[in-house]
Amino acid sequence: MAEVKKGPLFITNTLTRRKEEFIPLNPPHVGMYVCGPTVYSDVHLGNVRSFITFDILYRWLTHMGYKVRYVRNITDVGHLVDDVDAGEDKIAKRARLEQLEPMEIVQKYTNGFHDVMRLFNLRNPNIEPTATAHLIDQIGMVERIVKNGYAYEANGSVYFDVPKYAEQYAYGELSGRKIDELIANTRDTEGMEEKRSPLDFAIWKKADPHHLMKWPSPWSEGFPGWHLECSAMSTKYLGRTFDIHGGGMDLKFPHHECEIAQSVAADGHAPVRYWMHGNMLTVNGRKMAKSEGNGFTPEELLTGNHKLLEKGYSAMTVRFFMLQCHYASTLDFSNAAMQAAEKGLERMMKAVALLDTLKPVPGEAVDLAALEQRCYEAMNDDLNTPVMIAELFEGVRIINSVNDGNMAMDAHGIARLKGLFHSMLFDVLGIQSTIGATNGANDETALDGLVKEFIRMRAEAKAKKDFATGDAIRDRLVALGILLKDTKEGTTWERA
Ligand SMILES: [Zn+2]
Repeated sequence: MAEVKKGPLFITNTLTRRKEEFIPLNPPHVGMYVCGPTVYSDVHLGNVRSFITFDILYRWLTHMGYKVRYVRNITDVGHLVDDVDAGEDKIAKRARLEQLEPMEIVQKYTNGFHDVMRLFNLRNPNIEPTATAHLIDQIGMVERIVKNGYAYEANGSVYFDVPKYAEQYAYGELSGRKIDELIANTRDTEGMEEKRSPLDFAIWKKADPHHLMKWPSPWSEGFPGWHLECSAMSTKYLGRTFDIHGGGMDLKFPHHECEIAQSVAADGHAPVRYWMHGNMLTVNGRKMAKSEGNGFTPEELLTGNHKLLEKGYSAMTVRFFMLQCHYASTLDFSNAAMQAAEKGLERMMKAVALLDTLKPVPGEAVDLAALEQRCYEAMNDDLNTPVMIAELFEGVRIINSVNDGNMAMDAHGIARLKGLFHSMLFDVLGIQSTIGATNGANDETALDGLVKEFIRMRAEAKAKKDFATGDAIRDRLVALGILLKDTKEGTTWERA
């Protein structure tokens, strides 16, 4: 039987706009940085899609035998409402509105983010650094940029000198923006009178006396600019040049463009060899956004409690739905598409479960090595998960044919097919078994985790006095044979 060729991997590098062979700087090690959430509100489904994209990359690199150091940060300071140098800090604003300490807001939404990541079965990064825990590194970076002449102080704030940088380096290289066009599109914002050019951006901001989150620095009591943390923390944990930097398409400019400029200005090196950007999620053809009323949360998705949802969908259905689209394409969310994904996943899971009871029939009518090969080729072609899933459906067709007695397959073939589904569907695509295809103990743990997640969401809904959602969660669990018991110590569950 032909040997399966497992490499090489090609990924689309946003920087060169080309599909390139991935060659790590120090194999077998791979350094990978992904911009994490700003923890001032619940993540919406569009954010989840972006994180799933890089979860797939992490899983695939690991599957390919690389030793990956995956860093994904938590932004807990410095991200202003305008996404530029103006407006209130997003976290401080939420703290004011909810009458909590900023760090309570940070903890609350960090916990919520982790719950969502667990629910959608994302692997944890190896390091999850926070901006507030890396003030010294950020101040050090500002000092290096100032020393090298690419930033200047004005009234206690420090600004990055974009025109000066652009004299020597290609500012706009990643996003394809031109300096002249950028200047033409600038508008008046806070701090404008301090800047030498409207393109300059703050890397350190002096805080107003009433500002809640501020730290001492050589320039003023203040806080770092939003772009700075990613440069400082990626340098600290992955080195001055590392392999892969990922994030959502909307971060390409200004955030990632500024990250490149800061690293080059501070240390003289382009920081990243491969930039990768995931595309957006739309809803019925419109961009997902809270202001559009279509930015539903994972919780609303599971319960179906949103005017755009015909019913609730499981986290694995959503994950499967997302992976049926290539990460670089926009993906449109609709009830029809979700229901198709739900049916497809169910059909696949049923076939995988059949593998345990399939009776071997001497002979081997199909070339499983070729199927395996096509799975590798799909993933190595810029993480083409939709093609991979199509190949797995070919596997489903084979299983069903053997089960119906229309195709021969010996015990070795059945074991090989089982191995293929376990590695590609469960390990690489991160789909969790929804029926008894894994051993019983794992199922129990997974079930317990899931029910506890629903209990937590119900408690949260009740705390917000949203009793309709609370009751809907309880009723749906009852329909699934799960009874909740409210006690003084909290809520427990048992089977009906
Ligand atoms: Zn970032």
